[in-house]
Amino acid sequence: MLTYSSTRGGGDKINAAKAIIKGIADDKGLFVPSEIPALPVSIEELAGKTYQEIAEIVIGAFFDDFTEEEIKHCVYSAYDSKFAAEEIAPIAKVGSEDPAYILELYHGKTSAFKDMALSILPYLLTTSMKKENETAQIAILTATSGDTGKAALEGFADVPNTQIIVFFPEEGVSEVQRRQMITQEGANTHVFAIKGNFDDAQTGVKNIFADNEFAQDLQEKGYKLSSANSINIGRLVPQVAYYVYSYAKLVEVGEIKAGEKVNITVPTGNFGNILAAYYASQMGIPVNKFICASNKNKVLTDFINTGKYNSEREFHITNSPSMDILISSNLERLLYHFAESKGDEVKAYMKSLDREKNYEVSDAIKAKMECFYGGYADENKTLLAIGDVYDNNGYLMDTHTAVAYSVYRDYVQETGDKTKTIIASTASPYKFAAAVSHGIGLDIEITDFHYIESLYDETGMTIPEGLKDLDKKKVLHEDVIEVGRMKDYVWNSLK
Ligand SMILES: *Cc1c(COP(=O)(O)O)cnc(C)c1O
Repeated sequence: MLTYSSTRGGGDKINAAKAIIKGIADDKGLFVPSEIPALPVSIEELAGKTYQEIAEIVIGAFFDDFTEEEIKHCVYSAYDSKFAAEEIAPIAKVGSEDPAYILELYHGKTSAFKDMALSILPYLLTTSMKKENETAQIAILTATSGDTGKAALEGFADVPNTQIIVFFPEEGVSEVQRRQMITQEGANTHVFAIKGNFDDAQTGVKNIFADNEFAQDLQEKGYKLSSANSINIGRLVPQVAYYVYSYAKLVEVGEIKAGEKVNITVPTGNFGNILAAYYASQMGIPVNKFICASNKNKVLTDFINTGKYNSEREFHITNSPSMDILISSNLERLLYHFAESKGDEVKAYMKSLDREKNYEVSDAIKAKMECFYGGYADENKTLLAIGDVYDNNGYLMDTHTAVAYSVYRDYVQETGDKTKTIIASTASPYKFAAAVSHGIGLDIEITDFHYIESLYDETGMTIPEGLKDLDKKKVLHEDVIEVGRMKDYVWNSLK
């Protein structure tokens, strides 16, 4: 059986169920599997399987303390008619010569790729609680750059024995994202805007997790904390499934041959989505390059190009707000794997990041980073990519996907590499309607909600159910709080 332990070397080796319940390790490290399991079936056998069948195989391989029935229950409860696309994650081929395969991960309830993992996490968590005879209620703490919050609220609303608490940056989410969160229904939902950015929210949440005295006090009230961010292994692993699925699908439809290498381009913020692609490759999916696309907050581009991570820099609010991040938590997991599981080494990097706001990795890790390409697109390039692809191919992308597309184009131009490329498309264009409208040259309107209508008039693309009439829904969560008071609000939310 696989075991899960901290990237920073501390604490025990535990099973997957325990790691999912805990969310983050006691030494603030992230849980990593003792090894990345190989795909138990060949690619030829995977081709033709449904999304759910592939998710069962992938998630079952990682969470091998779950029975087959338990995994089936989680997978089929999550990936059902909640998704607007029957295939769950359809692939659009864009361009005829030198095409890109756009893997649409945004057909879940909240119109962003976070639904891919957050529609299953509540089932994985409640199953884990049952398996471990956990009697406390689980309070899920979530920091969000906009999309995780809503997807977690939607996933956990009214799930028995859970409370869901979300912190989002007051300035730095789109109007649609904000509305989605502050109108959330459900007796166990708690939503707070903070006077700070996403990194403040994420650091605040990590500090609460590391506060043992607070955990003790909560325990007395009958609560345990867990996380719905991609620091939770229960969120990361389901994301591996769609990379395996997309590769198998491209083999099935004859776009690639089994065994042929592909490139995978991912618009990256917290490094979870692209790390899932790396895990898929370690399971056996043949990958040539991981193309890591950033917006103007290009801390990862610089890291990939120099081996130096430096978070001390200006923070920009951009038109791809879900990637406005300077501390990419999941990079820690990649470093752990590249450091050959030396927790001490990772711990030293993270300590340096905490204290000096930077670190530089060893030459051995730098050499292993070669399979990653880092690039970035500023706001203007993002809009140009949206307009270009719409005009030339009639295909509409959101701003995050456009960052990825733009960096992918730069990569091809720079390297001449013709390897077929899967691009992760992370949100519906309607979720970032204002910027997308500018990208395709629509007139300036007043609010995001007007833009949704005019985008529809222009493109005829179906408006996702959850985004319709959002401006008319009742606001249920109005608090705007200081970063320093996050802990108090957690305490008061848990009765
Ligand atoms: C969260 C998010 C990202 C970044 O994903 P990470 O896993 O944090 O790298 C990109 N695009 C959208 C739309 C998102 O919601």
